[in-house]
Amino acid sequence: MTKAVLAFVLAVQAAAPPPKFDSGRAWEHLRQLVAIGPRPAGSPAIEQTRSYIKAQLTAAGVSFAEQAWDDDTPLGRVHMVNVIGTIPGARKERLVIAGHYDTKLFRQFRFVGASDGGSSAAFLIELARVLKARKNPLTIELLFLDGEEAVVEWEGNDHTYGSRHYVDVAKRDGSLASIKALVLIDMIGDRDLRIRRDTNSSRWLTEIIWNAARRLELDTAFVAETTRVEDDHVPFLQAGVPSVDIIDLDYEPWHTAKDTLDAVSARSLQIVGDVVLAALPDIEARLIKGVTLTGRGGKHKQDYRLVKAKKHLRRHQQRLKQSAAH
Ligand SMILES: [Zn+2]
Repeated sequence: MTKAVLAFVLAVQAAAPPPKFDSGRAWEHLRQLVAIGPRPAGSPAIEQTRSYIKAQLTAAGVSFAEQAWDDDTPLGRVHMVNVIGTIPGARKERLVIAGHYDTKLFRQFRFVGASDGGSSAAFLIELARVLKARKNPLTIELLFLDGEEAVVEWEGNDHTYGSRHYVDVAKRDGSLASIKALVLIDMIGDRDLRIRRDTNSSRWLTEIIWNAARRLELDTAFVAETTRVEDDHVPFLQAGVPSVDIIDLDYEPWHTAKDTLDAVSARSLQIVGDVVLAALPDIEARLIKGVTLTGRGGKHKQDYRLVKAKKHLRRHQQRLKQSAAH
């Protein structure tokens, strides 16, 4: 390879758009997770689920850590584990994209949680592959949360064990300040996808995401109506982290034996994948502005690389034109 050709290849690589979210892959992950069966916190099945998630992160070249603890629940102590995948970006500050991978414990019927627990985990696994290949201005953390579901009933502290534990640890070890925002994904598998704006979520994050949906003409799925949701984003909001919950709670099979593959669709995963990826640059721009205002500098590094790559490309194209003219 000559120097000019190498520069051209590098330029194309640097300027190339990131890979697209592939709902075919996400669907395959969802199928595998549902095939494991019910996956409540502390069960052998959730251990198997974790193994699957970790194997997929490894395959995508994304490093991860496990955050394990035992939590007190109405049914006694339960072993729980958050899986934290990290994709280093140009900056150390983190944008956390999270979802739960546990399913609610039901003894009366077999609950496999295709949308509730399955869709969020499958989504994050595919997102890991996509974002690993992207140039990320901020470090991206893919957070697979355990223990979102109530062990018995959603009251008192019997819910969101994983997110509460994660935020507690971040407060204690001083890493909370580096978390700039949270995008939470939950129950996005519904065939008839209808995601309402959550009024607990941070307004500016909601605006960016719903604007992206409108640009993509996906506002039939990201609708204007509002609702108020308690979910894994609440501990983050309480700790001062801007957060948004992307959730379709308007789901008939919710917490029933009917939350199976029949009730969900790959198309819905694709819609959310496309919207989140389209919204990401605006979220990052807003966060980087905030970071720069706090005086950490280095703002234009990423842009420079792209400008340079485009210049290389233009020069190469000019040269091709010139040689064609001769
Ligand atoms: Zn649930």
